[in-house]
Amino acid sequence: MESPDVVVVGSGPNGLTAAARMAVAGRRVLVLEAETAIGGGTRTEELTLPGFRHDTCSAIHPFGVVSPGYRTLGLDVDWITPPVAASHPLDDGRAAGLFNNVDETAQSLSERDGRVWRRIFAPLVADLDQIVDKFLAERIIPNPINKADRIMTLHGARSAAALASRFEGEGARALIAGLAAHSVAKLDSLFTGGVALLMGAIGNAVGWPLIRGGSARISDSLAAIVTENGGEIVTGQRVTSLDRYDHASVLLDLSPPEARVVGRLRMNPTDIVSYGRWRPGPGVFKIDYALDRPVPWADDVSPRAGTVHLGGTFEEIAAAEAAVIEGKHPDRPFVLFAQQSDFDPTRAPEGKRTGWAYCHVPNGSDVDMTSRIEAQIERFAPGFSETVLQRFTRDAPGFEAYNSNYVGGDIGGGAFGVRRFIPKVKSRYKVGDRLFACSANTPPGGGAHGMCGWNAAGAALR
Ligand SMILES: Cc1cc2nc3c(=O)[nH]c(=O)nc-3n(C[C@H](O)[C@H](O)[C@H](O)COP(=O)(O)OP(=O)(O)OC[C@H]3O[C@@H](n4cnc5c(N)ncnc54)[C@H](O)[C@@H]3O)c2cc1C
Repeated sequence: MESPDVVVVGSGPNGLTAAARMAVAGRRVLVLEAETAIGGGTRTEELTLPGFRHDTCSAIHPFGVVSPGYRTLGLDVDWITPPVAASHPLDDGRAAGLFNNVDETAQSLSERDGRVWRRIFAPLVADLDQIVDKFLAERIIPNPINKADRIMTLHGARSAAALASRFEGEGARALIAGLAAHSVAKLDSLFTGGVALLMGAIGNAVGWPLIRGGSARISDSLAAIVTENGGEIVTGQRVTSLDRYDHASVLLDLSPPEARVVGRLRMNPTDIVSYGRWRPGPGVFKIDYALDRPVPWADDVSPRAGTVHLGGTFEEIAAAEAAVIEGKHPDRPFVLFAQQSDFDPTRAPEGKRTGWAYCHVPNGSDVDMTSRIEAQIERFAPGFSETVLQRFTRDAPGFEAYNSNYVGGDIGGGAFGVRRFIPKVKSRYKVGDRLFACSANTPPGGGAHGMCGWNAAGAALR
C-alpha cells in the first residue's frame, strides 16, 4: 500500500482489533505481520494428526465474548458455550463447578458456601456490562453507591486467599484458586481476588465459550473487517524500524522490549525508560493431544465443562503457583485443560477428541513438564494415557520462537502487579509522536479480547 495513514505492527487479536477500528473509521490501514500466518495468539493448527485441529494458544474466551470492542465491530464468529464454564475436580471423586448461572454454581457448593457465593456473585452478574466496561475499557474508577462496584472494591482489590477465606468448603475454595490462578501470580497477591471475581462473574453470566472452527476464526473475522474497509495485511514481514512510515500513525502490537527497538526514534523518553524496566511473567509448557475418545473424568461435572482446572485444593494450587513465581517447577503443577472437540465436532475426526493442556513454569524454562501434567490429568481421569493417540509439546522458549511477543514464554504481556490495575491520568497507549502501544502489556492485559487494541485505536483517533 502506498502511503498508509496508519501502520499496525503485529497481527495478534489486539493488532487486528486496532486495525479494524481504524479502518472502519476511514483510515488507510496497513498491517505488517512477521510470521507467515496472521493471528499471533489466535491461530488454529493441525499439530498432531491429520483432521485434529488445535488452538495453538488461546482456546476459551470469557473476555472475548463480552469484549465491547468485538461487539461494536460485529465480530463474525460462532460462539459455542459448554453447559459448565469450568469444573474443578477433587480427590474424593466430586467436582466443584462454575456453571453458567449463579444458582447451579451455588447449589453445587455447601449450603453455607452457596449463600456466600450468591451474595458475592449475584450483584456482579446483574451488573456485568458495567463491570466489563470498567475493567476492559479502562474506566476503573469505582462508584461507591453501586453494589457491584463495592464488591469489586472490597473483595477484588484483595488477594484470592482473602476471597477464599469467605468460604469454608474445599470445593468453593478450590474453585476460587483455579479462577485466580489465571492471573499467573501468587494467590496471596493483591488484586488476584479481582481476577477470580471477574472470571467467575462472566462464567455465571454468559459462560466461557470456545469458537466453532477454532480461535483462528477471531483473527479471520477481524482481518475481513480490515480488508473490507480498504485495509491491507502483509505477512512474512518483520518490522525492525519505522523509517519508511514517517507520515503514518503507528500502533505496535509488540512486547515492550521489541516495541522499544522498533519505535525508538518516535518514543517518549519516559516510555523508553519504563519499557526498559518492564519484566516478563512466568512462561508456559503446553501439550496438545489427539485422543481416541473422550477423557474418562472420574467426576460427573467435568464431561460437561469446556475448561477443567486440575490442581486439587486451594492450598495445593497456591503452593504450585508460588513455586513457579519463585523459579521452581512444582511436582504437582496447576494444569488448565480444555476439551473443545467435545462441543465442536469440527475439531477432530468422528468419535475422536482433542485435548489442550498447559501449566505455568519459570520464565524461559526448558524443563519438560509432560509427565507432571499427565500425572495431574490421570489423578482426576484414571486411564487418560490410554486414550492418547499423539501428543505435541511446546516449552517456554518454543513459545517465544513461535511468537516473539511471548518473551521467555510469558503469554500475559508481563508480570502480574498492582501497577497494572491503577488508573492513570495519562493514556497508557500513546507512547510517542503518533506512536501507540496496543499489545497485551497495555490495559486490560493478556487474553484474546482485543481490548488493548480497541482502546489504543480510540486513543489514536482522539
Ligand atoms: C498456551 C496459551 C494459552 C492461552 N490461552 C488463552 C485463552 O484460553 N483465552 C484467552 O483469552 N487468551 C489465551 N492466551 C493469551 C492470548 O493468546 C494472548 O494474550 C493474546 O494473543 C495477546 O494478543 P496480542 O495481540 O497482544 O499479541 P499476540 O497475539 O502475541 O500477537 C502479536 C503478533 O505480533 C507479531 N510480531 C511480533 N514482532 C513483530 C515484528 N517485529 N514485526 C511484525 N510482526 C511482529 C507476532 O508474530 C504476532 O503475530 C493464551 C496464550 C497461550 C500461548
